[in-house]
Amino acid sequence: MPNFASNLESVISQRVSSALQQLLETKHLYQSVEIVEKEFDETVNHILGGYKRELFRGEPGSQDSAAILKRRTEKLSQERDRLLCSDWFFYTESNPPPGAPPIGSVELPPIPLPSVRVSCGSKQCKGSIQPHNSGFIGWRYGVLSFDVQQNGSLMQVFSFPYQCQNCKEEPLVFLVKRENLKLTLVGRSQFPEVSVPDFIPKEQRKFYRNAVVVSQANFGLAAAMYLRTLIEQHFYQVIPSSEIEAIKKRGSPRGDELAELYAKTLPKGFPSDFPSLRKAYDDLSEVLHRGKEDDEASKKFVGIKADIDKHFDALRVFNSILAK
Ligand SMILES: [Zn+2]
Repeated sequence: MPNFASNLESVISQRVSSALQQLLETKHLYQSVEIVEKEFDETVNHILGGYKRELFRGEPGSQDSAAILKRRTEKLSQERDRLLCSDWFFYTESNPPPGAPPIGSVELPPIPLPSVRVSCGSKQCKGSIQPHNSGFIGWRYGVLSFDVQQNGSLMQVFSFPYQCQNCKEEPLVFLVKRENLKLTLVGRSQFPEVSVPDFIPKEQRKFYRNAVVVSQANFGLAAAMYLRTLIEQHFYQVIPSSEIEAIKKRGSPRGDELAELYAKTLPKGFPSDFPSLRKAYDDLSEVLHRGKEDDEASKKFVGIKADIDKHFDALRVFNSILAK
């Protein structure tokens, strides 16, 4: 009989590995990914199809065959639940497991930690996204885990070491909590550096970086505030101070007044159909006045940030053409 169960094992192992890769590459602190049992229905049905073909080859439709199939179906779903509910073990490229798991083991065999592409904050990589291999050359230990079973539910907290393949500097260790089939990123030994595009003016880069950092923590209003500050401070920096003083005499300068003066500082012929900072400023004010940190606010933030990028990128291109 073909080893159908090992097929299920390898499908589950691959799914755990891909969930982990998705968690480390795309999620921020305290965000999660979840595996659902239903995802394995296709594999289970495929395996059952194999059983069926084998059983009914001899005596199609015999009562014995039907009973055997029923037993196997039950056994297979038990097997799936057992593998999903067992403690999981991982190994790294630099610390492979000493050997094959013992025959008859009731656990899921150790799963290789996937390689991931994440930001590296070293001096050399400066927050750029780099390939990271699991483990760390010279590290004596593999993956460490803290396992607890309570009231039928399972919790494991893993520390996963990684090494940047570009700079090979200090290890990056992730702390991941598993609650049954849910994986949550609960720690990162290095702060995920944000790479700020070169075209963002030097003086405003800190606001840009902070906007991205807080947006990743789902603080959409703070993110909008940082971007609006970036625009405002850029206005103050670029507009001649005599003009600022002139409007200050009438009271505190308003965003639209500053935006108008700023537009006059743009190089002649700067295309008017490029995203303007005035529009971005107004859109950000709208997000702030709405006062909600929801999906709509996050979506708006992404769009406005892209517009700000386009504006400064176009400005850089335009200035470099004029300089020639
Ligand atoms: Zn690096």
